Amino acid sequence: MQSEELKENGDEPPGARLSDSLKQFRSAGRGFWSNVSDADWNDWRWQLKHRITTLEQLHRLMPTLTPEEHAGTQLANHKLALAITPYFFNLIDPADENCPIRWQVIPRIEETHTAAWEMSDPCGEDSHSPVPGLVHRYPDRVLFLVTDRCASYCRYCTRSRLVSNATGYDFHPEYDKQIAYIAAHPEIRDVLLSGGDPLLLSDEKLENLLSRLRAIPHVEFLRLGTRIPVFLPQRITPELCAMLKQFHPLFISIHSNHPRELTTEVLDALGRLADAGIPLGNQSVLLRHVNDDAEVMKTHLQKLLRCRVKPYYLYQCDLISGSAHLRASVRKGLEIMEQLRGHTTGYAVPTYVIDAPNGGGKVPISPEYVLSRNADRVVIRNYEGKIFEYPEAADGTPLVAAPREIEEPALV
Ligand code: SF4
Repeated sequence: MQSEELKENGDEPPGARLSDSLKQFRSAGRGFWSNVSDADWNDWRWQLKHRITTLEQLHRLMPTLTPEEHAGTQLANHKLALAITPYFFNLIDPADENCPIRWQVIPRIEETHTAAWEMSDPCGEDSHSPVPGLVHRYPDRVLFLVTDRCASYCRYCTRSRLVSNATGYDFHPEYDKQIAYIAAHPEIRDVLLSGGDPLLLSDEKLENLLSRLRAIPHVEFLRLGTRIPVFLPQRITPELCAMLKQFHPLFISIHSNHPRELTTEVLDALGRLADAGIPLGNQSVLLRHVNDDAEVMKTHLQKLLRCRVKPYYLYQCDLISGSAHLRASVRKGLEIMEQLRGHTTGYAVPTYVIDAPNGGGKVPISPEYVLSRNADRVVIRNYEGKIFEYPEAADGTPLVAAPREIEEPALV
């Protein structure tokens, strides 16, 4: 009952720990939009139409903007546009300069500082693009970019070169050419629709696109990558879910970074998708000021499971231009992973990856659990630091008799 009480009054019991508070599902509330009708507030098109997109709007709603945010917002529309849905804006704590939601969507002047190793296309997508809007980087799957628009813009976005069209990239996906390429390549069995956000397309457009892809016999598996359930849960209507469920097997990867993003609205939206039989995964980006803390991360991952979402990837932040202020170190990422594996449900533990610069693809990285290995045995440690030996035959087959002598293993 405690969570129900917290949901209703938003108060925290005296002495509550931060992680206890973050575990609760709360509504984002109406905030500045208390006079808006329920019908409008719950209408995703109303939310899009009333996004915060200018410095004037932002300043009016949030007079506590810091000088860094003020200056960053002034310049944002030359780099990556400012846009925040009213729903998501209500998650920002205007009194807290370190609010983890604020760091994700409010521009800062640090975005204009670019280090020599930072890039506008850190994953080398453009160089693996056989037709506009299609990235073919791995052997059996493609990334199909459907739009350059998102409901809100993440300040660390890997595709900030094209999303929001602030830099004049002038992205024009050509669906006919993209589909023709997939149809002509029988090795492609998996198509990931992303962008920008594919759930910004109307139901009709999306249905048309999914139908055309489903009609290609060698396309076995469809995926959508979307942050809409988190930025704009109103978009996850029963009609959308009914349309999507025609295209199974269809998986959805959402993108959430902090437990505060998982509100009652998001819980309900994800429930609707899960009830439509859509397997749900989450991709988080490891971000300074947001989730570079083991307790916050664990709370977030556990809360995702309660939303019926399997944490899929934790990304080391790409070397996108102007993102240094948001990037946590790999060392920090490994420390966090160390405090997850074995310490909580295996389903809650994502794969921590670095998307290798210039198109090398995702490389999993993990704390070292294999301490040494030779032809006869593997020496491993568990999450408590206890050491174990696992014998194996010199030729790599399973061992049927104990080895007569086990040599000291060489370090890997
Ligand atoms: S939702 Fe995804 S594509 Fe859109 S700005 Fe955020 S990270 Fe980029």
